[in-house]
Amino acid sequence: MASPRIQRWAVTLCGYEYSIVYKAGKDHQNADGLSRLPVAETGVETPAEEERVLLLEENGVPLVKADQVRKWTDKDTVLARVREFVLRGWPKRVEKSVFGAYVKRKEELSVEAGCVLWGARVVIPPPGRTDLLKHLHTTHPGIIRMKGLARSYMWWPKMDADIEAMVKTCTMCQENRNSPQCAPLHPWEVPNLPWRRLHIDYAGPWMGKMFLILVDAYSKWIEAYPLSKSTSAVTIQCLRQSFSQHGIPEMVVSDNGTSFTSMEFQEFMARNGIKHVTTAPYHAASNGLAERAVQTFKGLIKKSSGDSIEVKMARALFSYRITPQSTTGKSPAELLCGRKLRSTLDLIHPDFKGQVQEKQVKQKLYHDQHAKERHLREDVSPWHVDHDKVFASPAFLAPGL
Ligand SMILES: [Zn+2]
Repeated sequence: MASPRIQRWAVTLCGYEYSIVYKAGKDHQNADGLSRLPVAETGVETPAEEERVLLLEENGVPLVKADQVRKWTDKDTVLARVREFVLRGWPKRVEKSVFGAYVKRKEELSVEAGCVLWGARVVIPPPGRTDLLKHLHTTHPGIIRMKGLARSYMWWPKMDADIEAMVKTCTMCQENRNSPQCAPLHPWEVPNLPWRRLHIDYAGPWMGKMFLILVDAYSKWIEAYPLSKSTSAVTIQCLRQSFSQHGIPEMVVSDNGTSFTSMEFQEFMARNGIKHVTTAPYHAASNGLAERAVQTFKGLIKKSSGDSIEVKMARALFSYRITPQSTTGKSPAELLCGRKLRSTLDLIHPDFKGQVQEKQVKQKLYHDQHAKERHLREDVSPWHVDHDKVFASPAFLAPGL
């Protein structure tokens, strides 16, 4: 039995993918002389290992990983044979009651790293099915959403029936059957509204700064904060600022960086009713969205002009936010704010709407002046002021705008 400490590390490391390459001792040439010289004792004690909050296993269901799927496939008499058939060709006759579901799909089956795939979906051997059903069911998404989620990742014969059976026997799902929109977002789902799920990550240091990067899973809107340190307190301060502008998200996804796993950060999430997910189950590249946002941001900043980081950032982010995404055809601003942000590019368009509006304003002004004159002549008191109208006018509420 491994010690709790080793287990903790094992689970923390689960969030990463490794490619380990053997290198013989004689080939190690990257250490220079200085790195081998002993350093004088400083008397500073190595700080105790920080307690990590293992949200990875928050629902207590073990993670299912590709390597495990391969091992189960090796041991499963049916699936191991299916894998053989896929690799070496299907026999003329197979037992329909056993292989029927696979034969139907044989043109679309493939093998990757020892796992059988149907299209992009991993065929799950029986020992993994229960745990994956539990993962899919984490937020009680209901039959339809649970099937939708499952279909983008996995398959096994009669998977849909298994999902239906699970939901039908779940009291919570049955009680909330008529209000599926209340079911919270599952970590694997693509949100259908902006600013519901945010991915965050630290990047840098570049130009002497660390950058906290936030990306909205729906609109791909990116926010970035240049910081001199990446503590939990600073992270919270930045998130608070973003939340004050766009609202509080349902879910925040981050890696296991200490600024995200501290008690302080967890409390901030809990106080705001935000579900904090540190690594999505099953897919190791779960925070890929944040990693891509970091790369995008890095690329933009490099190309951006300006004397200070702030100016560079503002220019880079503005141009990114108004540029339509190839996948959606819409800009992050359109998806998040529901409108196109006006930019200097708008100047090239002949603004017919603006001209018409200008004309209408002039007409109204002329009309009102004349109407007022008539009104004043009829009124008993020439000093009557309609306070409601004056105080409600935008000019009064927002002087200077
Ligand atoms: Zn349920």
